[in-house]
Amino acid sequence: MTLPSDSVPVIPAIPLGIDEKTVFRAIFTAYPDALLLVDNKGTIALANPMAAGLLGYTMGELIGMSVDTLVPDTNRPRHAAYREAYGHAPVPRPMGTHMELTAKRKDGCEVMVEIALSPLQIHALPFVVAAIRGIGAYPRVKEAIQRARYSEHLAQFGHLAVDMRNTQILLDQAPVIAAAALQVETAMVLLLEPNRAEFRVASGAGLVRGEEVGAYISSNPSTSPGFLLRQGQPVIITDYRTERRFTVPKAYLDAGLVSAMAVPLLDRGRVIGTLAVRSRDPKRFGDEELRFLGSLASLLSTSLQRAQTEEALIHAQRLESVGKLTGGIAHDFNNLLTVIQGNLQVLEELGTIAKDRTAAQMVNAAARASRRAAELTSKLLAFARRQVLQPTAVDVDTLLLSMAEMLRRTLDQRIRIEVVTPPCCPAIQVDPGQLESALLNIAINARDAMPEGGTLSFSAEVHDTLPTWARQQLDEPDAHGECFVAIRVTDTGTGMSNEVKERAFEPFFTTKDMGRGTGLGLSTVYGFVKQSKGVVTIDSEPGAGTAVTLYLPSTWKSGASVDPDVREFCQQAVPRGLRVLLVEDDPEVSKITQAFLGLLDCKVTTAVNCERALSALGSSAPFDLLLTDIALGPGMRGTELAAHVQHRFPGIAILLMSGFSSELLDSARDTPSAWELLLKPFNRAELAQAIESIWIRRKTGG
Ligand code: ADP
Ligand code: MG
Repeated sequence: MTLPSDSVPVIPAIPLGIDEKTVFRAIFTAYPDALLLVDNKGTIALANPMAAGLLGYTMGELIGMSVDTLVPDTNRPRHAAYREAYGHAPVPRPMGTHMELTAKRKDGCEVMVEIALSPLQIHALPFVVAAIRGIGAYPRVKEAIQRARYSEHLAQFGHLAVDMRNTQILLDQAPVIAAAALQVETAMVLLLEPNRAEFRVASGAGLVRGEEVGAYISSNPSTSPGFLLRQGQPVIITDYRTERRFTVPKAYLDAGLVSAMAVPLLDRGRVIGTLAVRSRDPKRFGDEELRFLGSLASLLSTSLQRAQTEEALIHAQRLESVGKLTGGIAHDFNNLLTVIQGNLQVLEELGTIAKDRTAAQMVNAAARASRRAAELTSKLLAFARRQVLQPTAVDVDTLLLSMAEMLRRTLDQRIRIEVVTPPCCPAIQVDPGQLESALLNIAINARDAMPEGGTLSFSAEVHDTLPTWARQQLDEPDAHGECFVAIRVTDTGTGMSNEVKERAFEPFFTTKDMGRGTGLGLSTVYGFVKQSKGVVTIDSEPGAGTAVTLYLPSTWKSGASVDPDVREFCQQAVPRGLRVLLVEDDPEVSKITQAFLGLLDCKVTTAVNCERALSALGSSAPFDLLLTDIALGPGMRGTELAAHVQHRFPGIAILLMSGFSSELLDSARDTPSAWELLLKPFNRAELAQAIESIWIRRKTGG
């Protein structure tokens, strides 16, 4: 309803007996919005109690005050101009037409308000009545403010992430920004350690006891970060006191923390850490908060990933250029040495020299020195990836065990040596001699780092794909389908500072005394691994030991569809012409298994049940391998057949197949643990691997 400013509204009659003045005064006092009557100079002529409450002044203080006082400083000049213009053309302005107005309270705080204006005349004097409503407490306004705050904080972090090359600063800022935006007590970033068994607290704000920066937290699913790791997606905890999905540390409850929210940090879909916030209020976090934290986490993980890639690239580039340089020098040197050694040899054999003892000794010493020089240049060539490698399929398990054996005999007795390898580790495609010398170099470094003794352990792990940062260091980072075996050599020695770690692969970089270190050990390892199409990394911290990991390409391809390679490898690992007795009652399974075995160059005889199998075995049992299903319908079970064969024909290897997982097998009857078990469904590669590992076990007598 709009009224012309100069007309007097017609007010219906007030019930008899009530004084009109009293009524209007009462309405003015009881009115739910703040009301101010302002004259044409901007002076407040009248204010109601709501105005006093909203603006923090007494009614007495408001009367006589300029309305400009109520306008925030930044808006004041604009407000004066507006008031001036309004005075010339006063029209009613209803509530809600101006959204972003703020009023300044006596205490200096600003409150969000909506203001309605109506011009009016009293005794022919122009006034304006302003109705002011505080809207800061409205849920929709609160939400809008909150959303604006979230965007602002995200933008702030985004700017930082674009400019910043120092990841620690980003890590430090993320929880600070999360805590400020969400107005919570604690926020933290946890990063998963390479072994994925622990998280490390990378940064945080308002951290509780036991979770200081640098502390480790197990990634077991019974812990809250471990739970998130297993979920792989955001987790909201409405109340720690009733949480049952994981164990809540007492420190959280002691610190009065009640609700929480955590989102994963991802690197190509893989969880690498988490960003978590906690609050003392229950049920603090909803969709809006989750969206904010998710955006912040994805900004953070992208920046971390980029920084890591860049760092790795710069490091690799530097080594690359040093490599080119040394490679060139070593090459020229080798030519010179050829001439020197050749001439020395001629001299050695020269009659006059051979007769002269001193001269002969001198030539001999020169020849020895030139041989040492040749060794040195060959190391340099190794670093520069110019040595001649002869890669073949190397069985990791066997190699590590024999290395360990040799080291046990030669290294300090106070150094304990361990080997841990997975049950069916695929072979790797490398030069075995060079791999041994690389591992020896690493082991010698480990010994030097453990003068008082310690533990040196070798382990191997199979990786379907490499982590992003590692893949970037490959010469062909986009090559697909390659499986890697990570050989890790860990010591409990002194560890390295960041500066040493940075330079450890450089040729001639050593921290050891003259005569003890040449600085060529790790550089030859680096060159060898690169030349073998692999990646080598160092994890080390002062006082925390060192782990050197060689990611070497396996002869396997991930996925079973890479025929030529599977065939080639299988032919290497599985003896040719293996005679297999295949016992399988399902004709389809039997057919495909025969096809797989055919690819492995096996000679296959089939039987649909144990009775047929026994008659095929006869008394001479012309087979190398019994491959049998466990459940074979009515009659004898595959395990009984296996037991029988093992007893009567111990020369026949046994491989069981089953559609049940091993837990489901009747362990009393089926004790399959003694024999290799192949779970259905299997592909060609898995079948080949199972047979291969039986043969390796047989060869090594395991
Ligand atoms: P060298 O052993 O001749 O010094 P390397 O290239 O083998 O040369 O190693 C370079 C440097 O890296 C060493 O001098 C040492 O400071 C550091 N380093 C290598 N391996 C380890 C280790 N396992 N623990 C601590 N520091 C190591
Ligand atoms: Mg060394």
